[in-house]
Amino acid sequence: MRRRDFLGALASAGALAGVRPHASGPAARHWAWVHGGSQRTVDEWRRRFVRLRGAGIGGVHVGGGDLELLSNAAREEGLTFSRWIWVLNRNGDSWVKANHPEWFTVSRRGESSLEKPPYVGYYNWLCPTRPEVREYLSREVADLAMNPAVDEVHLDYVRHCDVILPVGLWEKYGLVQDHELPEFDFCYCDVCRAAFRQQSGVDPRELPDPESDLAWRKFRWDGVTGLVKELARGVKGAGKPITAAVFPTPALARKLVRQAWDEWPLDAAFPMTYHAFYKEGIPWIGEAIREGVAAVPVSVPIFAGLYLPDLAPADLGRAVRAALDAGAAGVSLFEMDGLTDAHLAALGSAGG
Ligand SMILES: [Zn+2]
Repeated sequence: MRRRDFLGALASAGALAGVRPHASGPAARHWAWVHGGSQRTVDEWRRRFVRLRGAGIGGVHVGGGDLELLSNAAREEGLTFSRWIWVLNRNGDSWVKANHPEWFTVSRRGESSLEKPPYVGYYNWLCPTRPEVREYLSREVADLAMNPAVDEVHLDYVRHCDVILPVGLWEKYGLVQDHELPEFDFCYCDVCRAAFRQQSGVDPRELPDPESDLAWRKFRWDGVTGLVKELARGVKGAGKPITAAVFPTPALARKLVRQAWDEWPLDAAFPMTYHAFYKEGIPWIGEAIREGVAAVPVSVPIFAGLYLPDLAPADLGRAVRAALDAGAAGVSLFEMDGLTDAHLAALGSAGG
């Protein structure tokens, strides 16, 4: 008997005291991320969704494309329709770029992520400290939550630019990021500098070693968390769940992208436990999930995000079992079009 089954048996025997509901809930219910922008008819979408359903996937996080069409197709096949949106990375937002260039984050070098995006051309990030940014994003997210076609809202890119990239990506970008480099360290915009000065008496531009300054690091964590709390009010106000794709563990998320996600008022968290990005093996997925499960309130299920290009079908089965044994409520696969029939069979037999 696996640990989850054992805990399930305990729960039904009424001996639940001290046992986390994560591990004792119903059978695992998996998810997939879906790029909705592909040109497909409603019947083509339905055929893809029914295929997921057959392998134990119960919901899809769908970004882009025709929201109503995709929602109808997913619901008709019995899937929960979660709308997946990019929050602080606004590369695709031509309105905000044209009208509010000052809303974008500024590096320790004084360069705007709009004018000089770090790493890649699409790294244009809004500053979560600015009240106008929070109001703008809150309105967008609340409108989405009130749309009857949307079952849940799924946040992505709700963080700062990677001050340090996952170690598996350093070579690709020709970088050695054993400390925080100024061109990747955000946000030193006028609003952040003034707010931190008011709080601490210091202009962060004047800090001799900003990386070692806990108050300044916390200021960035709290900025993102404050935004998420506002977004959550709108979504919960509409009576819908709010979830997020986050970095693999709370500690890594704070260190790499200023994301203190264990403090967010989420209904579920989807840590992207993409082991190869961290030069790790499959057992690490379980270790990362254990950290997340231990850090969040017992009411918040954790779903392990799995990166299919780094998982052959047999490895997917091992990864799913590692995640479930560590207390994950299920997994979420990135992304649907990478799922072969062999992957789906492995998912089905790894089960939950
Ligand atoms: Zn700022």
